[in-house]
Amino acid sequence: MPTRDADVIVIGAGVVGCAIAFELAARGRRVLVVDMRRAGAGASRASAGILAPYVEGHHSAALRAVGLRSLALYPEFVARVVAAAGLAVEFSTSGTLEIAVDDADVGRLQHSAAALSAAGVPNTWMDGSRARTLEPTLDAGIRGALHIPVHATVHVPAFTAACAAAAVAAGAIVHDSVSVSGFSSEPDGIVVHTTQGDLRATEAVLAAGSWSGALAPPGAEAAPIRPVRGQLVHLQADPGAVGHVLWGRDVYLVPWHDGAVFVGATSEDVGFDERTTATGVQGLLASALALAPGLAGAAFVEARAGLRPGTDDSLPFIGRSAVLPGLVYACGHFRNGALLAPLTARLVAALLEGDAGDPALPLVAPSRAGRL
Ligand SMILES: Cc1cc2nc3c(=O)[nH]c(=O)nc-3n(C[C@H](O)[C@H](O)[C@H](O)COP(=O)(O)OP(=O)(O)OC[C@H]3O[C@@H](n4cnc5c(N)ncnc54)[C@H](O)[C@@H]3O)c2cc1C
Repeated sequence: MPTRDADVIVIGAGVVGCAIAFELAARGRRVLVVDMRRAGAGASRASAGILAPYVEGHHSAALRAVGLRSLALYPEFVARVVAAAGLAVEFSTSGTLEIAVDDADVGRLQHSAAALSAAGVPNTWMDGSRARTLEPTLDAGIRGALHIPVHATVHVPAFTAACAAAAVAAGAIVHDSVSVSGFSSEPDGIVVHTTQGDLRATEAVLAAGSWSGALAPPGAEAAPIRPVRGQLVHLQADPGAVGHVLWGRDVYLVPWHDGAVFVGATSEDVGFDERTTATGVQGLLASALALAPGLAGAAFVEARAGLRPGTDDSLPFIGRSAVLPGLVYACGHFRNGALLAPLTARLVAALLEGDAGDPALPLVAPSRAGRL
């Protein structure tokens, strides 16, 4: 039998693949990560890094449940990554502030506030003048704001790089510029076909984000994942100019300790087109300055775009292939790949250790989309 290149090959070095690689390497697996470009070059480079299960999971109890599980894992996961990598990662727990600009928003957010309170989730509804005292860049006409303090943010490009470095520190190997074209099985193992030749391992994890649908093993349906482009603008304001995530009706602002503010995001069905556009940037800036005119003097740093791996129910596919048992899916994280990365890493590690009993697994089972 040919020598194995690794115990586990992780395909895709985005935030999801790198978090998985770290978790597996930390548990003693021999891990090889391959990416057709380099770590963090996909959707993860454009991610805003908001960890907000009560906003994102408003219409989906399943997404809310897995999001809350993953958010609870975050502080310890980031601490382990930072310790192993020796790199700083900004992780902030100042919460989200959802902004009401008219009567309809006031009604909707006060309704949310009542539902959260009934469920025992700490939150504060405040009027417009109190919100402006807290966040002076906001428009004078805002009507109120809902603060949900449990929400957090993570700087995704830094977190992805740190996960990759932590994985390497734990013994993993990361290969850039290796494009995977498919899989086949061999006794007790899997062969991963790549542009650099075949790679062999006991198991493989498909974490190729929006591109995962093109990598169906023989006999399986393609994972139904569609690219949903998101554009994001990076502004530079004075440190402390914005203190919380400010979530408006059609834009959000994410502050960082050095005064950087990420303005996101567009949602566009344009295929595998990762460009930023004049219209996208214009729309984001107009919406941002309508919400927070106090940022008008902020410097424009850059615009980024990424392809969210979209699924019909907004939940990822995490689980073993029904067709190729050595293959585990970890893709389709859509709008919440940063939020769900620690839980995904834990679920994949448990599956590879033979434990399929986690109550989150049925919610994210690939089988809900057919014969995967
Ligand atoms: C503008 C924007 C804002 C966002 N904001 C948030 C947010 O606030 N909170 C949140 O939780 N999520 C957010 N997201 C979503 C989040 O960024 C994604 O869900 C997440 O990045 C997906 O991570 P991933 O590792 O699965 O995919 P990616 O980061 O896309 O990584 C996939 C990797 O696979 C590689 N690859 C693909 N095909 C192959 C192949 N054949 N062979 C080898 N390698 C391959 C790619 O090069 C890429 O590096 C946002 C996304 C965007 C675009």
